[in-house]
Amino acid sequence: MSISSRVIYLDSNATTPVMPLALEAARAVMEDDYGNPSSVHSSGIQAKAVMEHARKTACELLGSENGKLLFVSGATEGIQTAVFSALLALRDKLAKGEKVGTDLLYGATEHKAVPESLQHWNQVLGLNFNIIAIPVDHAGRHDLAFLKAHLASAGLVCTMAANNETGIVTDLAGIEALLKDHPTYWLVDGVQALGKLPLKLSQHRIDYSLFSGHKLYAPKGIGLLYVHKDAPFTPLLAGGGQEGSLRSGTENVSGIAALGAVLEALCDGHTFREHATLEKFRLQLLDAVKEAFPGLILNAPLEQSLPTTLNFSVPGLTSKELLDLFDAADVRVSAGSACSAAKAQPSFVLQAMALPEWQAASAVRMSFGPAVTADYIEEACRRIRVCGEALRKTCMVTGDIEPLPAEGVIQLSFGAACTWIVADAASKQCIVIDALPELIERITKYVRCQTYTVAAIVGTGSHPQQNQHNQALAGLLADAYKGKVLTPIADHAGAVNLLLSPKLSINGIALGEKFFAQLDLSQSPNRPVFLFGERVNDAKDANVKTNFAFCGDLFDTRNQTENIAPLSEQEIAAIKSELKSFIGQNALLCAAHDFDKRLVTMFDHETECCLESVTVPSANLREFISEHPGTILVDVREPYEQQLSHFDVPEGSEVLHVPLTRLANGVERWLKQNEAKTTPILFFCRTGGRSSQAVQCLRRLGYENAWHIAGGLALWQH
Ligand code: PLP
Repeated sequence: MSISSRVIYLDSNATTPVMPLALEAARAVMEDDYGNPSSVHSSGIQAKAVMEHARKTACELLGSENGKLLFVSGATEGIQTAVFSALLALRDKLAKGEKVGTDLLYGATEHKAVPESLQHWNQVLGLNFNIIAIPVDHAGRHDLAFLKAHLASAGLVCTMAANNETGIVTDLAGIEALLKDHPTYWLVDGVQALGKLPLKLSQHRIDYSLFSGHKLYAPKGIGLLYVHKDAPFTPLLAGGGQEGSLRSGTENVSGIAALGAVLEALCDGHTFREHATLEKFRLQLLDAVKEAFPGLILNAPLEQSLPTTLNFSVPGLTSKELLDLFDAADVRVSAGSACSAAKAQPSFVLQAMALPEWQAASAVRMSFGPAVTADYIEEACRRIRVCGEALRKTCMVTGDIEPLPAEGVIQLSFGAACTWIVADAASKQCIVIDALPELIERITKYVRCQTYTVAAIVGTGSHPQQNQHNQALAGLLADAYKGKVLTPIADHAGAVNLLLSPKLSINGIALGEKFFAQLDLSQSPNRPVFLFGERVNDAKDANVKTNFAFCGDLFDTRNQTENIAPLSEQEIAAIKSELKSFIGQNALLCAAHDFDKRLVTMFDHETECCLESVTVPSANLREFISEHPGTILVDVREPYEQQLSHFDVPEGSEVLHVPLTRLANGVERWLKQNEAKTTPILFFCRTGGRSSQAVQCLRRLGYENAWHIAGGLALWQH
């Protein structure tokens, strides 16, 4: 891997770039040796020779002399073929009345291709065999006692040589000792071991093993399947009789040549790094991540895992946040878990290892290939440290860097539930509304890092046990908190009188030029609304202007706390009308739950918008900007991402930074300053998810000149 490119790629367990020598081998086949290996003319014979040379190299490297080595499309096809063959053999033996085990055992942390194949073929063949996961311990190692106890009824055992998420290396010798005299078939997924661990197949009693070229610098679409000479085999693909009729279909000769070239290089002694060097590189990376993310926890013991894989979690940060952060620094890592926009789906591998839920939902995997260079690792470490600085500067972690001051309305969420913070940089004060227990730690860190005073901690009565959470937060922030928990805002020390409307004057808190007040509506006892806005000196009827109303779940009947009966349509209408009479109809409403990702809403103006018409494909960006002069580009990524990323701004365009969690401030400004709503606004983010929420929010509120860039920076800057 070179460092000439902008990207530092640390996701090699997912796939690798194609090595120059593999690229050259593939190119030579595509340009010169392009014959069909089944043809009998010279071109065909030459292509076949390329293919057989690659097979010989693979055979020598893997020590597969006592079995067949087939070229397949990848590991998934290898797994299908092996599982299909083994299950058919078990079925046939059963039909003949032979005594065979019918339990299909697989490691609980296997790649999904294994359990899904077992499920699939078990069903397709109508076998109804038991499919049983072999549990793993905290370190991800198979429970050999469990395997031993279940062996008597086992027909097939599937265990990976090394895990793709954690890098944990399987005790194949321990498993082999158990299986030694047992008739069960044994499948070993060798994908992550290739090039990183020595594996001589013929020295083991392995029946099936498979490998994928793209995990080791060969192109996608080529892999290897090893079948022991005594293991049953049934072709998955029938047709022209290629691969000795074991796998029909014209061979992927360019892919085979590329894979062959990589395997040859594995033996040349200089293309790939030695185990000890890889270990050293990993420790360098570990030092960098520890420095960047204090409190980091490793999810797999180093001494038991591949030297090229690091899996860790950072308390208080989700996988998604870390992935966004690294991506902004052009460092590609894997979340270690599949993330949906709403909530991170914890990694099933880490769950199987019984790691705490937060760890499984916050995991990050860094993996590099065994041909990595020292310079590459150094550059990776430098960027990781820069990522840490960006987090400290934006108060995501506490540190010694002067933070960017917080200002305005900030929305933090956990699932659909929201906590809101209002902050005033001038007076260095903030207020927390509806603190969620899951976010208390983050809020504490944030406020401390900002060195703001907490003027109040309040609740709209929308979350269960809100008082307890408020108390907990106040306790953690004791030195920064000057209010009294549960004291109505009106009774706060230093409360100022605010004329909300000719009909109502209440006490509130002054935050510099702004105010914060609690409004107890006669129509909604126990559910106060909190108002945030500007103090306006020259107004006749009111001396404040409410810009934001934190109204809990008053207008959303989907989340009602157990203590309070759900509101009827008429009650909601009456509350709305009372609230409007005090704050006007243009205030932005900030809810305690955001099930539909609306971010902020208003009393009226809610028009639905359709996604297609608001999307600008990145390829059409220049054209769009020239057709929409004066377009403002709005980056809705989080402050720590904005700190890191550098991208080419189209000529003549202005870029504003309004993170999605602060979008309410932008919306308020755009709707107010731009009554005619004529300035075109074009949102973007990393991949288009967050910008799509932003554009829909603004359009719903009646701002029609808003769009977003499909695919975000990922496609635009490609
Ligand atoms: N097995 C393991 C351990 C893997 O890591 C992967 C890919 O991530 C596979 C199997 C499937 O490989 P492929 O998608 O190349 O078929």
